Order: sequence, then C-alpha cells, then structure tokens
Amino acid sequence: MNAQKQVAIVTGGSRGIGKACVETLARSGFDVAFTYHSSSAKADELVASLTAETGQTLKAYQSDAGDAKACQALIDTVAADFGSVDVLVNNAGITRDTLMIRMKDEDWDAVIQTNLTGVFHTTRAAGKVMMKQRKGVIINISSVVGVYGNAGQVNYAAAKAGLIGLTKTVAKELGARGVTCNAIAPGFIETDMTGDLPHKDQLLNAIPLKRFGSPEDIANTVLFLATKGQYITGQVIGVDGGLVF
Ligand code: NAP
Repeated sequence: MNAQKQVAIVTGGSRGIGKACVETLARSGFDVAFTYHSSSAKADELVASLTAETGQTLKAYQSDAGDAKACQALIDTVAADFGSVDVLVNNAGITRDTLMIRMKDEDWDAVIQTNLTGVFHTTRAAGKVMMKQRKGVIINISSVVGVYGNAGQVNYAAAKAGLIGLTKTVAKELGARGVTCNAIAPGFIETDMTGDLPHKDQLLNAIPLKRFGSPEDIANTVLFLATKGQYITGQVIGVDGGLVF
C-alpha cells in the first residue's frame, strides 16, 4: 500500500478499539489524528511511543464527541494541521446500561448524544472536506447490539442501530463524490467497556469461535476498509466470532 500522507482521524483513540485503530493505521503508513475525552496522559503516551516507532505524524486532541461545536472544530483543526482528511473512524462511545423501565432521561440522552449525534456532527463536517477532495473513507463503529438489541442497553442499542441507518444514507449521498461509508458491528471485544461484564462463560458459549474479540480484530477490519475497500459502501460488517444472539 502506498499510504504516504494519507491522514486518518480516529475518535476515542486513547483506549481500547480506538487505540488499536490508531496503532494499526500508523504502523501501516497513515498520519493519525485522534481524540480523547479525559485520558490525556494515555493520549500523550500513545503519541510519543507511536511517533518514535513509526515516524508518522500523530496528534491527540481533547474533544467531546457529544459537543456539536467541538466536532466541527475538530475537523477544521485537523484539516488545517494535516492538510487533508482521508479516513474518519467514528469510534468514541459510552454505555449507561440499565433496564428500560429504570432508565433515567439523562442516561438515554448522554448515550444518544455521544454515540449517535456526535457521529452525525463529525461525519457532516468531514463529509464536506471529503466531497471537495472527491475521496474519503468513513467507518462507523456500531455494534451487534444495534442489529439484535440487548436487554439492559435500550439507549446504546438505539444509538448503534441509528448508526446503521446513518451509514447507509451517507453511503448513498456521498458515493458519487468518491466517498465510502461503512459500519463495523463488533461482537464482544475485550476492552475497559466490557471489563466487568457478568456471565462471561455463558457469553462464550454463544460465540462459535469460542473467544472474545481483540481490539486488533476490529482495527484490522478498519485498515482493510481504509486501504482495500474502494468498492465497498453502505455495508454493516460483523466482526463478532460468529456470535448468535
Ligand atoms: P473504551 O475502552 O471504553 O474506550 C472508549 C474510548 O472512547 C476512549 O478513548 C474514550 O476516551 C473515548 N470517549 C468516550 N467518551 C468520549 C467523548 N464524549 N468524546 C470523545 N471520546 C470519548 O471502549 P471500546 O470498548 O474501545 O469501544 C470503542 C467503540 O466500540 C465504542 O463506540 C463502542 O460502543 C464500540 N463497541 C465496543 C464493543 C466492545 O465489546 N468493547 C462492542 C461493540 C461496539 P477517554 O479515554 O478519554 O475516556
């Protein structure tokens, strides 16, 4: 791959899946801008170690995915700092789990705002840059929960299902300008988000490949879409070990 001067943005790149995406893209020749919300020390450490290892340009930005103005400012700043926006990975996400009848309005709002509305704001801003460039790759990290639903996650499932509709629509609107848009639907991936999941043994029984996924499993799919996915758009790609709900 000739990825020289290709610029990728990863939201939520300080930990978990986003961090693996930052590492994989940088090691494959991308310059990478990534955001974090509160983990500034982890973000700084990642920039320092990957810059030394790969020689690529890396930069971390404190930016709240749930803040509309911050999403627009992020894309404007990265476009100015790096010169282009070739790949956008909408990865930042949160959970506020509880059964629907107990869910507080603020937990519904926080998850929809960060996991869905933030993707709209970031994608709208990046889409304008990509349309002008007549090329771009947008990858949204959805979830198997957005496809199947999951008890205790009505807010998260609604946001992740919403991302699928957003993805398919953006693919239709921007395709003629050379911009692809796909969603990845991870199964259970071992990160801080799933660290204290109950009944892990039972969950494993539902996964034909008999293991939880790694952040690298998702990052490798992101890399494939970013480098080899030129004729793939509007798709939801399950990366879930064959998980059947
Ligand atoms: P994680 O380990 O909890 O990491 C979340 C990342 O998102 C961190 O970098 C965090 O930054 C950032 N973030 C959180 N809120 C943010 C905000 N308001 N603005 C900007 N950044 C924010 O989560 P993960 O497991 O890697 O999940 C990453 C994505 O994959 C999420 O969208 C999640 O829904 C999705 N996903 C995960 C799984 C799984 O099994 N883990 C399965 C399906 C889908 P700080 O470090 O600063 O907090």
